[in-house]
Amino acid sequence: MPHRTRNAWFRTLAQLIAVLAIAAAIGVMSGYPWPIVTFAALGVVGWHYWRLRGVLLRLTARQRLAPPLGDGVWNELDRLLYRGQAEMRGRKRRLIEMLRAYRAAAAALPDAIVVVDRTTQRVQWFNEASGALLGLQYPSDIGAPLVARLHPLPLAHWLAAGRHAEPIEARSPVNPAVTLTLRLIPYSDELWMLVARDVTRLLLLEQMRRDFVANVSHELRTPLTVVHGYLDMLDPADNPDWAPMLAEMQRQSQRMTQLVEDLLMLSRLESQDSLPVEETVAMAPMLAALRREATALSQNRHKITVEDDASVDLWGSHRELHSAFSNLVSNAIRYTPAGGSIRIRFRRDGKGAALEVVDSGYGIPAAHLPRVTERFYRVSTSRSRESGGTGLGLSIVKHVLNLHQARLGIASEVGRGSTFSCHFSAERLRSREQYVQPA
Ligand code: ADP
Repeated sequence: MPHRTRNAWFRTLAQLIAVLAIAAAIGVMSGYPWPIVTFAALGVVGWHYWRLRGVLLRLTARQRLAPPLGDGVWNELDRLLYRGQAEMRGRKRRLIEMLRAYRAAAAALPDAIVVVDRTTQRVQWFNEASGALLGLQYPSDIGAPLVARLHPLPLAHWLAAGRHAEPIEARSPVNPAVTLTLRLIPYSDELWMLVARDVTRLLLLEQMRRDFVANVSHELRTPLTVVHGYLDMLDPADNPDWAPMLAEMQRQSQRMTQLVEDLLMLSRLESQDSLPVEETVAMAPMLAALRREATALSQNRHKITVEDDASVDLWGSHRELHSAFSNLVSNAIRYTPAGGSIRIRFRRDGKGAALEVVDSGYGIPAAHLPRVTERFYRVSTSRSRESGGTGLGLSIVKHVLNLHQARLGIASEVGRGSTFSCHFSAERLRSREQYVQPA
């Protein structure tokens, strides 16, 4: 018991003893000791009950307690209750302040944040930026159905996908010049958070970067052609000492030309959202061409097999698909040591079809797999350089497949080989009968 409380307790006990002692003294003097002591004791009990009633009343009234005066045990009880209440109030105030600070921070974020009820899909709360980016207005839009309110944003399917909803890019319903990326974050069982971010500037920068790469590549093309042309004209027989240097210069200028061509191709692929021309791509001649290229690149160092099991053709761009497939074939040959085997196979894949290039080469460590389709990403820089790679091949493949709504699958095991497969959906297939081979 704290010192102060113990003192109050002893003081009250002393008061009781004093009252009883005085009563006993008066009783002895008046000749009625027991009745007077009993009367005094009843008085003390009555007084305590009165104080107890006071405490109960104060507690049930739920009012703010007044700081108590006096130093008896009841005042001490009042003091402790007052202290408890004041502490509770302080804690509540701090919590409310914290909550306000969080709300203010969320409200001030530059991204639009909308809290949506998962079952009813109605708006529960939104921050200030939601007004400027999504056009939501306070307070009329609290409780509004989200999909209808944000029309024409394509949100219905997206909300239905719930947890699996991929971020989407869309124009702001308020200002079509503003592009937003929308993400859905299911942060509790009942509530979802929609976050919309203005990516207009980012897209602009991306566009500038693309234009820059395209322009640089384009500008490099002409001087390279000139250098390449002159190098070709120089005859090593004229000056045998220069022969190794000339050969190296030719190799390097060839590499630069390839790099520029690949960069231009990537820029072109990136700048289009869909294929400009679509046609039936006959797969039998395509596979034959791939075999020819593989044989030429391999120079009999590998065993090459081609299997055509799908008996369908593809719908898309012949030029782009050929460049994607031949990139995969050239990688397979370049990253497979002599004596290995390369298998090119076109097969059915569920309702769709897949073109697979399987090699028995070096393989790719699992840690590198997610990144190999990035530009200039190389598992081993020296090996890629030795093999004459530009580091852009798989980026090109990925872009071409994206334009065909197809998917690149990569499976690889170090030391055993890799399988690169291009999966096309049923919409991209054409039956071979439909195609009449030009004479
Ligand atoms: P590169 O021009 O360097 O070959 P790519 O974009 O075509 O560039 O490939 C990226 C990297 O992925 C390569 O540097 C190589 O390390 C790895 N890679 C690609 N294909 C294969 C394969 N068939 N076997 C092993 N590694 C491969």
